[in-house]
Amino acid sequence: EIPESPIKKQRISRANVILGQILGEGFFGEVHEGVYKSDTIQVAIKTCKDCSAGVKEKFLSEADLMKNLDHPHIVRLIGVIHVDPVWIVMELYQHGELGNYLKEQKSTLTTATLILYCLQICKALSYLEGLNMVHRYGQIIFFSLHVDIAVRNILVASPDCVKLGDFGLSRYIDDQEYYKASVSRMPIKWMAPESINFRRFTIASDVWMFGVCVWEIFSMGQQPFLWLENGQVITQLESGVRLPKPLLCPPTLYSMLTSCWAYEPYIRPSFRQLVCSLRYSGTAWDAP
Ligand code: ADP
Repeated sequence: EIPESPIKKQRISRANVILGQILGEGFFGEVHEGVYKSDTIQVAIKTCKDCSAGVKEKFLSEADLMKNLDHPHIVRLIGVIHVDPVWIVMELYQHGELGNYLKEQKSTLTTATLILYCLQICKALSYLEGLNMVHRYGQIIFFSLHVDIAVRNILVASPDCVKLGDFGLSRYIDDQEYYKASVSRMPIKWMAPESINFRRFTIASDVWMFGVCVWEIFSMGQQPFLWLENGQVITQLESGVRLPKPLLCPPTLYSMLTSCWAYEPYIRPSFRQLVCSLRYSGTAWDAP
């Protein structure tokens, strides 16, 4: 007997959702803001443009995964409308993408706040890392993250709270198909060497990406390896070149980043260990 997930989200009724203005363009279609009347909360509504049966399944796979997740720093699913037109309804995060927020707030953000963002995302990833290994609800929920861990996929809920988003697409497509379908969409500059070379995605390659994401945060949303072509990245990494220390990044934090960028995956720390280092950093660097 398989017990129901205690946090399984219900299907919701379209009558309870007010569709508002367009927020942006997602992979499958427009994302709108709106209101969920039952709880009177503001929501983001993902729509699906060309929703044939196959596409619909992929579109809904994100919601399917998200309904099992419950973490203060992971985007929260409100519910799904399964009848056409299919909608995925999520909590709205007013300040939008972290990448843009960092650029806008450049002059006001302190090192302590930047460390806080890194810690929150690291906690979310540590939570996912834990789920990856345990049997839940009678089945093994096994997912390698291999989504973009990057500031473009982090949303800002408030000036001191960020949420990891985007559980779509990539992880649900097997490597072969993913590679063929989207080799040009691969975020090469964020990827671990084994991911670039062999399309090997593991929790250790997620740790590498997290390191790049921390680099982006301390560089205020600058693109990593902006000075290189995608095709040049792997040769640079293999000759030992790494992203330089951002000006605002404390040296001890930078040494944590270089440990995330160890060439051999098994040498990299776990998210659990990284949470500890970042917690320590948060207090230590406030002190004179
Ligand atoms: P997809 O992953 O399907 O490609 P995105 O998650 O990138 O779609 O969403 C597209 C746009 O909508 C982005 O600009 C993003 O900032 C915005 N958006 C998505 N979800 C939310 C949300 N929950 N709150 C605020 N903005 C959101």
